[in-house]
Amino acid sequence: MNTVVLGMQWGDEGKGKAIDYLAGSFDVVTRFQGGHNAGHTVYYQGQKVVLHVLPSGIFYPDCLAVIANGVVVQPLQLVEEIQNARSLGLSMQNLILGENAPLILPFHQQLDVVFEDSRYQRIGTTRRGIGPAYEDVVGRRALFVKDLLQEKAFRSKIAILADYYRRLFKAHGHPVDDIDQAIDQYLQAGIFLKPYIANAAHLLRRAYVEKKNILFEGAQGTLLDINLGTYPFVTSSNTTIAGVFSGTGLSPKAVDKVIGISKAYTTRVGEGPFPTELKDECGSMLRERGNEYGSTTGRPRRVGWLDLVALKYAVQVNGVDSLFITKLDVLDESAEIQVATSYESADGRGDDFFSHADALSRVRPVYQVLPGWRKNLGAIRRLGDLPRQVRSYLSFIENFTGVGVSHVSLGGEREQTIEIDR
Ligand code: GDP
Repeated sequence: MNTVVLGMQWGDEGKGKAIDYLAGSFDVVTRFQGGHNAGHTVYYQGQKVVLHVLPSGIFYPDCLAVIANGVVVQPLQLVEEIQNARSLGLSMQNLILGENAPLILPFHQQLDVVFEDSRYQRIGTTRRGIGPAYEDVVGRRALFVKDLLQEKAFRSKIAILADYYRRLFKAHGHPVDDIDQAIDQYLQAGIFLKPYIANAAHLLRRAYVEKKNILFEGAQGTLLDINLGTYPFVTSSNTTIAGVFSGTGLSPKAVDKVIGISKAYTTRVGEGPFPTELKDECGSMLRERGNEYGSTTGRPRRVGWLDLVALKYAVQVNGVDSLFITKLDVLDESAEIQVATSYESADGRGDDFFSHADALSRVRPVYQVLPGWRKNLGAIRRLGDLPRQVRSYLSFIENFTGVGVSHVSLGGEREQTIEIDR
């Protein structure tokens, strides 16, 4: 069963843990969009590991871990991540890096910083150059992983692009950072990465034709999608199902199942509307219990109740088949739990989600209150052992969104997961 795993919220849904839990039964795991702005936390042999661009498949030596062409790659960061993974004892012989993946270049990162500090853009990006790298793809100027393998051509292509950026920065009163040293480092990284570089699109197509089981590993979340998210407070790629096809070159027929990952509550990093945000003690309690601090940036996350209006939207735009609900245990101490079931706006009450930020910032969530369970869930391993209130919470989510819950997660460890057979 070729399966897509996608975040249903604003990222950080616990996809790392969910994908790691699922990855063992796949022949191929592929990342298809985003860059090292993602931070998937998994535990490997008791150690906490944060993956940024490496697919979760690297933990399984028999599974091919593919960085597909839709991912933007910062070669120096990737080298470091591979070295870290090797230091954990992983051979990394199962890694494939798409030759047509666009490169994140030094001036992309500089531009991200300059723009984040300007009045043109205040999105709260990770300042790693992801957005500007995608801008170069759309602008038809991008350089690709395969370019690293042709020293002379790389030097001349990057010189032309550096000139473009020099003029751009100059117009904004900024000098462009000297990139001579970076060019040498990039070429060195190319030598290091060469054994991993391959035609990822061909390879994935072959895997599909040979009926291999493929897991498509989403990064960020639906509400951060460049087209369908809370624009402009979004990331620069398609984090939704659409990204699977453009990022891998496979067709919708290659997908058998879509699993949506959602926390039992909601978090958001950075700017942008967040209707169910809690700015009170209850929010702080959830933040502390859920350890809601960015795995890539360390930033405290904004925290709020589960927004079912947004979740239903995410289920619908992605054609989700089932939900993987994470971090239920974070609600263990809440006497009551609220869920937003509609929005009130100047146009009245409704349960349609507004994706553009200006419209979303004007809605007021309408809540339904559900009883909490006041019990520690961390050690529970069977559905039947979950308190009645937990099961009704899950049923409420199912009835509202129209899809079943196939997995619940009650802690960060692989074993703290209950699979629900239907
Ligand atoms: P991702 O980007 O979607 O993978 O999300 P993060 O990496 O930010 O993940 C969430 C964090 O929550 C990690 O530290 C996980 O170990 C942890 N986590 C995942 N699932 C659960 C869960 O069910 N309960 C608790 N308490 N922590 C979880």
